[in-house]
Amino acid sequence: MQTASPYFSGTYPEARTKFLEAARRAGARINHHEHPLKGPEGEVLATDVARIGPADASRILAIGSGTHGVEGYCGSGVQTALLSGGFADELPDGTALVLVHAINPYGFAWNRRVNEDNVDLNRNFIDHSKPHPENPGYEELADAINPRDLSPETMAKSRARMKAYAERHGHRAMQHALSAGQYTHADGVQFGGREPVWSNRTLRKIIREEMAQASRVIFVDIHTGLGARGQGEMICVEPETSETYKRMRRWWGDIVHSTVGGASVSSDVPGSIPVCFAEELKGREVTSGGLEFGTVPIAQVTIALQSDNWLHQNGGAENPRAKEIAKAIRDAFYVDADDWKEMVTAQTRDICRAALKGLQE
Ligand SMILES: [Zn+2]
Repeated sequence: MQTASPYFSGTYPEARTKFLEAARRAGARINHHEHPLKGPEGEVLATDVARIGPADASRILAIGSGTHGVEGYCGSGVQTALLSGGFADELPDGTALVLVHAINPYGFAWNRRVNEDNVDLNRNFIDHSKPHPENPGYEELADAINPRDLSPETMAKSRARMKAYAERHGHRAMQHALSAGQYTHADGVQFGGREPVWSNRTLRKIIREEMAQASRVIFVDIHTGLGARGQGEMICVEPETSETYKRMRRWWGDIVHSTVGGASVSSDVPGSIPVCFAEELKGREVTSGGLEFGTVPIAQVTIALQSDNWLHQNGGAENPRAKEIAKAIRDAFYVDADDWKEMVTAQTRDICRAALKGLQE
């Protein structure tokens, strides 16, 4: 039996090399969007785009990885597995496959969920000329969410504060406070930024260059960290009454959940990727969803987020604990086990097959 494991990588440069080789072998047209900064080994950072299919395709299936940096270990492996497994041979006439590799390459290479500006890219697609969304729960819990140190005592206090908040306001409210983004603490977790960041501007450029000619576009953005181990959920940011949600349900069934109304593993967050697709592709039928795969229990994911932020505020790679913490962060968003890699690859392949069918409707 063919296994998915060889397509996954232990570092960003390894992942990039594997992806580009697989793309070349599959006959893709490749574009590099180089990032101004370098990776930990001085390596080039880039968002790479591999495109297979006609230049004037009216239908496009696009798949993204690494919006949340370190989550790219999963998305990159899946993209490379799809390319290597001959998925492009399944493309119907008039349909193109566009793979966007490492949307936030800095976070991927440095094992961070955020980007070079400490910004959560998936909260950055808002109109920054208008007042930013408020998150009162985050304000109340800011020092618990962003602890001063990672000692067992401080972390226990942090957990107790969050637990008390959840008991008072409910778990959804706690999750919203923690994960729905904030625009007031530039050094804190879940910061959405104050202007469009590099990856925001680059992704918009890629959409305009690669997808503007199409009339129907599907974008599946691969994420990790929420839900049961290895289990995929397709996250829709539009309400269940929307045409987008109905389409997604028709194509992908009951793995589709809307963040509006609380059915999803994710909170209803402002400024996520689907906003930018809708803005850049006005007048087309756009179906943009986050495909979220579970990794480890949520408590471990939360600690990883807190540690990531603490490390960033305390010397980053220069800190003696940098290696150990980077590994803990990676382990929270990427399960380095054969069965998990198989699960995420097989589910994504099924979703992509259903998407190709959906595009022919
Ligand atoms: Zn994510």
